Amino acid sequence: MRMTVLASGSKGNATIVAAGKTSLLVDAGLSCRELLRRMAVAGEDPTTISAILVTHEHIDHVAGLAVLARRLGVPVYFTEQTHRAWVRMLTPKTTMSYAKWLELREREAAAAKEAPAHTLLAAAEEEDLGSEEAQIPVDPEGEEECAPKVKANPAALPAVEFFRAGQAFSIGDIDVNPFTIPHDAADPCGFVFHARKESLRMAVATDLGYVPPNVKMALKNIDVLLMESNHDLEMLKDGPYPWSVKQRVLSRVGHLSNTATAEFLSRDYDGGAHTIVLGHLSEQNNLPELALLAAEQAIGNRMSLLGNRVVLARQAEPMPPILL
Ligand SMILES: [Zn+2]
Ligand SMILES: [Zn+2]
Repeated sequence: MRMTVLASGSKGNATIVAAGKTSLLVDAGLSCRELLRRMAVAGEDPTTISAILVTHEHIDHVAGLAVLARRLGVPVYFTEQTHRAWVRMLTPKTTMSYAKWLELREREAAAAKEAPAHTLLAAAEEEDLGSEEAQIPVDPEGEEECAPKVKANPAALPAVEFFRAGQAFSIGDIDVNPFTIPHDAADPCGFVFHARKESLRMAVATDLGYVPPNVKMALKNIDVLLMESNHDLEMLKDGPYPWSVKQRVLSRVGHLSNTATAEFLSRDYDGGAHTIVLGHLSEQNNLPELALLAAEQAIGNRMSLLGNRVVLARQAEPMPPILL
């Protein structure tokens, strides 16, 4: 089993979790081009990606989502509420109801199936040049010409799959357990990934205001844990953010401080992980050394050669893959 964090932080998030023949991308928060570049740097083959899973609709998690999904021709997994919020975000001016949108999407998918694959790829390449025209809202009346809408609709995806927090599902060799996290988005989730054959578990838990009981439960028996350690409380309080933003970050639907993460690690964490990856660090309100020190102190004497290694995910470059 393998975890490769391609990017982590408020400027973009993306992580690959792979086992057997299945490779899943969690979030696509950088441009399609940059995600592909980072995969190349990290030695991840984008053509092996089976699906993209979305934690929530904030831009640092979905910036390159549609273009990448179309480029790779892979399905995207959302909760229905997250999908709805994402569609609304991409097509703010549309007067179309969500039901109508879903109907149109079905027809687009059917049209896309009939179009030769190379045509779709060429269209995806063009889109990646970043033309603003690709952002035109969908015309609610234009029902006849489905095929051209594949390109005109910024929220068009090769396939959409819905999941619900608390309900496990499988993609290839990986069982996925999505769990609700407290964050100011429509229906935000973390994930536990279980590689059945290897009997290994990896988890992604970032973007949460605090660690509620359901998250503590979900994060038992994890072998590699990507956990948020967003800000240092003092740095945030004294830092440059406006008061309202500070309040948002600090709130129960904001982000985890180094202190909150350390509290989880010392009180609730079971000590069983091979590696703990600290992620979503604020560039303004945190220092890598502070996050690392807080987590290491919290784990204390449980750190050993065999396990509980603490490492930092980075914003600007991919991490080397973590292999178990
Ligand atoms: Zn985020
Ligand atoms: Zn967020």
